[in-house]
Amino acid sequence: MAERLTKLGVRRIGDLLCLLPQRYEDRTTLKPIGSLVVGETALIEGVIELSELVIRRRRSLLCRLADGTGAITLRFFHFTRSQQQGFARGTRLRCYGEVRSGPAGLELVHPEHRIVRAEEPEPAESLTPVYPTTEGLHQQTLRRLVEHALALLEREPLIDFLEPLLATRPHAGKAWPTLADALVYLHTPPRDAATDLLLAGGHPCSRRIAIEELIAQRLSLRQSAAVARTERAHPFPAAVAELAKFRAGLPFTLTGAQQSAFAEVVADLAASVPMNRLLQGDVGSGKTVVAAMAAVIAAAAGFQTAVMAPTELLAEQHFASFDRWLTPLGVVVIPLLGSQPARTRASALAAIADGTAAVVVGTHALFQESVEFAKLALVIVDEQHRFGVEQRLKLKQKGAQRERVPHQLIMTATPIPRTLAMTAYADLDYSVIGELPPGRQPVKTVVLAEQRRAELVERVAVHCATGQQAYWVCPLIEESELIDSQAATELEAELAAALPQVRIGLVHGRMKSAEKDVVMRAFKSRALDLLVATTVIEVGVDVPNATLMVVENAERMGLAQLHQLRGRVGRGHQASTCVLLYKPPLSPLARERLNVLRATNDGFEVAQKDLELRGPGEVLGTRQTGIEQLRVADLLRDADLLPTVIEVSEQLLATQPQAVAPLIRRWIRGAAEYAQV
Ligand code: ADP
Ligand code: MG
Repeated sequence: MAERLTKLGVRRIGDLLCLLPQRYEDRTTLKPIGSLVVGETALIEGVIELSELVIRRRRSLLCRLADGTGAITLRFFHFTRSQQQGFARGTRLRCYGEVRSGPAGLELVHPEHRIVRAEEPEPAESLTPVYPTTEGLHQQTLRRLVEHALALLEREPLIDFLEPLLATRPHAGKAWPTLADALVYLHTPPRDAATDLLLAGGHPCSRRIAIEELIAQRLSLRQSAAVARTERAHPFPAAVAELAKFRAGLPFTLTGAQQSAFAEVVADLAASVPMNRLLQGDVGSGKTVVAAMAAVIAAAAGFQTAVMAPTELLAEQHFASFDRWLTPLGVVVIPLLGSQPARTRASALAAIADGTAAVVVGTHALFQESVEFAKLALVIVDEQHRFGVEQRLKLKQKGAQRERVPHQLIMTATPIPRTLAMTAYADLDYSVIGELPPGRQPVKTVVLAEQRRAELVERVAVHCATGQQAYWVCPLIEESELIDSQAATELEAELAAALPQVRIGLVHGRMKSAEKDVVMRAFKSRALDLLVATTVIEVGVDVPNATLMVVENAERMGLAQLHQLRGRVGRGHQASTCVLLYKPPLSPLARERLNVLRATNDGFEVAQKDLELRGPGEVLGTRQTGIEQLRVADLLRDADLLPTVIEVSEQLLATQPQAVAPLIRRWIRGAAEYAQV
């Protein structure tokens, strides 16, 4: 049983209290049998009038149960001889189950049942909790265990770390319930409790648990950050001369937002604790150049930087940018890609191992064991949501040598509201580039039904005839690169037939990186007018002359993803358009979602709306944040609690550090392993 309980995160008695019901059953009232209706789940009591074994299609035991208001059939397919004998005429039974309609009137199939004796207590006074359980662990057993734990709670109160802190911060004008009261209520709500509210997290008692859980979550992330602060990294002075030269070589000046984000990076790099910074900025806000300047600093001090991108295409593009910007400064930049020929790869590995390569740009290939860095001191990760925490750690460990770990800079274009970020990414420092480079025109977004496809094709022809370029992103059919790639190939053929004068290229996930590269280069150099693509172009591809983006089956994609795709255009000085094609009929929710994109170009707003319409999982990539461990709390629904969560966590850390570990242990499943991350 201990093993099974462990699966549910229950190791100590107190953990049972934190195992919260998924739903409730009402066994507080005995229903007259005569009042039952089909589909209802009810508690009944009556006397067995008749019990018979029938063997028609299946052997079954039928009992007729009556209570004076009516009678019902109990049907059992599995039963023991002694059970059968127990159901003798005249026996009083209490049953709980769902009423169905059977061949001879109403029946209960395999109801929970109990023989009732004279001294039988009245029905339960509170609603009966149904717990999440695991194979081999009966609901009844769990209930009994929780009852014991609740009984113990009366003798040995739970330490309520938050009560004094929450006392000064009433919730919606009312005092917060204590932890014990909230738990008791959730496990044994009165029969008239608003269970819907309770289960949906809107009840004061569920909110009390939610706030506790969010605080524990934040503390746990803050703890990992504290562990990180005990680590050592190489401190780098700002390389003033090199940076001046770098900036002089840029064809643009940095925006104020880029400069202030970079100033934070510079300060981090100057410290001997490792940087752990999230650099957030909408698509096109210019994160890459900030990262490149960080690499300049590391290189000037004689150390290596690893730049990790989620796709080969993006790695190649980053390589091109870093190469263009850093090579003139005498910094050696090399790519490391899975698709490289063996000889190229071998010489790349040698340059990484002997330190000749100052900056290495690559994909997952960077994690492989064969990759050994001479002096890795800075890790730059692009588009964090594609990488898990584990992968980041692996790379960090690669750089760990003589007690030093590399600095980390994580770039993400997924904009999330600030309080949310502070909770979800409490283990990272956080800079925002909240401004786009000047001269960008907002992308006009149009939502169009599939029926008007022919018109759209015409429009693409006109568009390309003016010398501007376009993307056509094809339907996301399912999570299969093969099928998506086939669809892209068919689409290309269709468009090629319709638009003979347009030069069309195709990129999809099944192509070799070198093949994709050829097409992308051709598109960048304007040898192609139209690029048909699967969502492989999603992140970061930069072609300023491309000013039209068509996305098919837009209704099936996440808003964040559509916003990313839209970010491929609007990168130059000309006005850009994004056409979201959909297959009617559009559900009201889908319409609302697409309208969000039409209404705003602001990634933060898109994120907020996405959050409201879909829930935080989609937006945040919760697997990376650990937020999926939340039981009761919901980042979006409880967003109003977040300011309090942040305040109270900080106060706890400052005044009651001894409370931190027990709180984390109480609420964060697998807290022990997690802390090591
Ligand atoms: P993202 O933040 O989406 O990764 P990029 O770093 O790819 O954005 O930058 C988008 C484009 O903007 C690139 O072509 C880049 O060279 C250009 N860029 C970056 N900073 C500026 C700036 N301050 N002024 C003008 N263009 C800039
Ligand atoms: Mg980018």
